Amino acid sequence: MLPFFRRSERWLLGADAWRGAEGHVSVEPSALRDPIAQSWFAAIDASGQGRTTDYNGESPEGFGPMQYSVDHGRRSSAASAYLKPALSRPNLRLIKRATVTRVLFDGRRAVGVEYMRAGRNVQALCSDRLVLSMGAINTPQVLMLSGVGPASHLKEVGIDPVLDLPVGKNLEDHLGYFLEWERRDLDPFHASLRLDRIAINMMRAYLFRTGPAAHLPGSIGGFIRSSPDFVAPDLQFLIPFISPSANVWLPFQNVRTQAEFAVKVQLTSQRSRGEVKLASADFRTRPQIVYNSLSDDHDLKVLRAGFRIAQDLGNSPALAAFRKAPRNPDRVLDHDKDIDSFIRSTAIQQYHPASTCAMGGDSRAVLTNELKVRGTANLFVVDASAMPRLISGNPNIVIIMMAARAVDLWKQMPT
Ligand SMILES: Cc1cc2nc3c(=O)[nH]c(=O)nc-3n(C[C@H](O)[C@H](O)[C@H](O)COP(=O)(O)OP(=O)(O)OC[C@H]3O[C@@H](n4cnc5c(N)ncnc54)[C@H](O)[C@@H]3O)c2cc1C
Repeated sequence: MLPFFRRSERWLLGADAWRGAEGHVSVEPSALRDPIAQSWFAAIDASGQGRTTDYNGESPEGFGPMQYSVDHGRRSSAASAYLKPALSRPNLRLIKRATVTRVLFDGRRAVGVEYMRAGRNVQALCSDRLVLSMGAINTPQVLMLSGVGPASHLKEVGIDPVLDLPVGKNLEDHLGYFLEWERRDLDPFHASLRLDRIAINMMRAYLFRTGPAAHLPGSIGGFIRSSPDFVAPDLQFLIPFISPSANVWLPFQNVRTQAEFAVKVQLTSQRSRGEVKLASADFRTRPQIVYNSLSDDHDLKVLRAGFRIAQDLGNSPALAAFRKAPRNPDRVLDHDKDIDSFIRSTAIQQYHPASTCAMGGDSRAVLTNELKVRGTANLFVVDASAMPRLISGNPNIVIIMMAARAVDLWKQMPT
């Protein structure tokens, strides 16, 4: 995968054996402008946790500045990096505000899709490959609406099965929660939200792509192991330099929220699995998303270990100058029971759904290793749903890399 990662990114600090500097997606390191950053690093060092200067490089383990997909003050997305520059190609047509409702089959061959646009049902036909990229929720939804999915479930909702495959199963997401402390000083990000300052800075960012509003406030990230027995990190930490409840405020009015600092603990080695199911055969009905979070005890155990590490970091003497009082939880938690209850009441999915059309080498997978829907002649999927397991980091650039890899693979395949 490494050549495809390198080919996908334009890393601002230059290429090396691990990083690419000539690719499409611009990636920049976080600027650590908040004075609390140095105290966090002191707390991390005192705790014995390691550091890394580039978690996307040779040494991913430890704490270091986060990296962002930003290009001169704007988000560098799949749309801005790949789609927009290609829009003038004669063989590309972009149809906006169109909702694909099903794949059309002639036997096992996909011959097009049906989509709704402005209340009209339209067909787009194809004679070659058909590729679905609607994400880990909607790709399985549309496949199931087309009769490709678990046969018994499809019959339940009144759809005739075309292919019996475990579409929608195996759903994974990262689960995470924040610990928060009240902060003595006003952090630079919250200070920048004073109405007159932010109004000017937003205009500056919009017109010239410069100034504080053209940069993310910065954060420290960390990939660590909950126990030395593990071979790879199973937890991801995020220390954002944003008060979680920061609001836009007016000078002379006492409506500014209390400044805080926070740390997020995120599980990256989850064993609980969920499922995307159809609620009805009508495409307008949203699919059911059943996460089954924490259904495997392992997940709670690792998140609990993460809580203890995060709590010790936030209560470190190194942060004493910034720390006023614990906020969430509002006291130090020692007992497993209390920690578990805090996790159960605060943890949420981190918007990384994946693996609902997993690729793999055997018949339990929905896709072949070439990302073709098993049993079809020419129907392919490339998006988060195709991951056999959700990767243990942020998925966006990985999905972009998968698309680059898929294109390379398909070019070598006969149609
Ligand atoms: C709030 C938020 C914050 C995130 N932050 C990060 C982050 O910091 N770093 C990171 O790495 N990842 C982050 N992610 C996750 C990342 O955005 C996703 O993992 C990634 O975009 C998934 O890519 P995809 O191609 O699988 O699906 P998507 O990016 O969701 O693309 C699917 C596309 O298909 C379209 N579509 C869906 N159904 C249909 C249909 N029926 N007909 C036509 N079009 C359809 C959708 O509109 C969408 O444009 C975040 C996600 C969210 C929601």
